[in-house]
Amino acid sequence: MNYVNQLEFAKELDQSDPLKSFRTKFYIPEKDGKDVIYFCGNSLGLQPENVDEFVNRELRKWRDFAVEGHFTEPYPWVDYHKFGRTVLAELVGAEENEVVAFNSLTVNLHLMLASFYQPEGVRNKIIIESGAFPSDHFAVTSHMKIKGVDPAMSLVEVAVPEDGYLSTAEIIDAINDHKNELALVLLPGIQYYTGQFFRIREITRAAHDVGAFVGFDLAHAIGNVPVSLHDDDVDFAVWCSYKYLNSGPGNVGGGFIHQKHNNDPSFPRLAGWWGQDETIRFKMENNFQPTKGIDGWMLSNINALSTSAHLAALEIFKEAGMENLRKKSITLTGYLEFLLKDSSFAPNLKILTPGSADERGCQLSLYFLKNGRNVYDFLTHNGVMLDWREPNVMRAAPAPLYNTFEDVFRFVKLCEKAHDQLG
Ligand SMILES: *Cc1c(COP(=O)(O)O)cnc(C)c1O
Repeated sequence: MNYVNQLEFAKELDQSDPLKSFRTKFYIPEKDGKDVIYFCGNSLGLQPENVDEFVNRELRKWRDFAVEGHFTEPYPWVDYHKFGRTVLAELVGAEENEVVAFNSLTVNLHLMLASFYQPEGVRNKIIIESGAFPSDHFAVTSHMKIKGVDPAMSLVEVAVPEDGYLSTAEIIDAINDHKNELALVLLPGIQYYTGQFFRIREITRAAHDVGAFVGFDLAHAIGNVPVSLHDDDVDFAVWCSYKYLNSGPGNVGGGFIHQKHNNDPSFPRLAGWWGQDETIRFKMENNFQPTKGIDGWMLSNINALSTSAHLAALEIFKEAGMENLRKKSITLTGYLEFLLKDSSFAPNLKILTPGSADERGCQLSLYFLKNGRNVYDFLTHNGVMLDWREPNVMRAAPAPLYNTFEDVFRFVKLCEKAHDQLG
């Protein structure tokens, strides 16, 4: 698209946006009586308006039917983990029995590591990236320690350059360098700091070629970019629902386990009663016969009160469609990139995120050579909500469900104003 650096142009793009009505389905925070420019959907998505209805339905069910709510239509609690499945499967490119909403991201990562990190002899290494989110790093090293493996010897951290991102070739080289010792590769779908979208299919193939399992942390990918976990042959994935999925603070996470593993009752796992085959679950016997599919990894019955907010948010994704969202997202983030490069402060800015749309989602990570923190403070005082990540990055994530081209235009003008004032 040929972009133009003009407010009128931004407004025209908003007018012709087929998804424009979705903004009205969200509560936008205000500052001084005006909608803020909310670029923080990568951290906490906005509240959808239908959440009240979904949560209140379960509150009423609890009030009016108490324990019978487990079997009261609609949405009986005993089946509550099943209701989001169709949309989740679409979002991550999976078969329905490969995905479920349960627990939280880090808990699910631990469950997956218990299953997929089975060090044997010299094959005990795990590859992550040096910039991995701390929780992922802690989860991996704690499993190594439990299994008597020394992370200093066996954790391979592919080094991310301080002001850039990893090439797929560097990752594949690391996989091949450690091929006989490699047990597992764990990478993000989208890297939280740089916004890089990893090439899931190529990385998965390279890891499988050397006999290792591969898992992806989709915290920043789900609801942001379409992925194809089943076809790409990924072994497992985990995610949270409160970032791009707008399901509310700390709400239920989710996971994916490929069909080729998840129907095998002998696949190693940490087990709980909710993973027991549901036809015998309530016999309360102690012979564990896991449910087919990823449900055989469930531990506990589902928190219907909070999961109801997740279902409300997934309804919106079903209506909007991930392909449509991605289409808008590419244009919206492309416009942000164009305006930044066309701005008066361009010489002070390095964009850490890859420049090609197929290597990023909606987020651009802005690295200011000087005054970064001051620019950030100016923006937050002037009605922008976005976040700062140490050591020196401002993450701007225009979400296609509720952000506008006008948001993007006004954001870059405010960055210009900040630079004018700071000199
Ligand atoms: C947001 C995020 C998390 C958060 O984990 P929780 O268990 O949901 O608190 C973990 N890993 C990555 C990469 C994230 O971006």
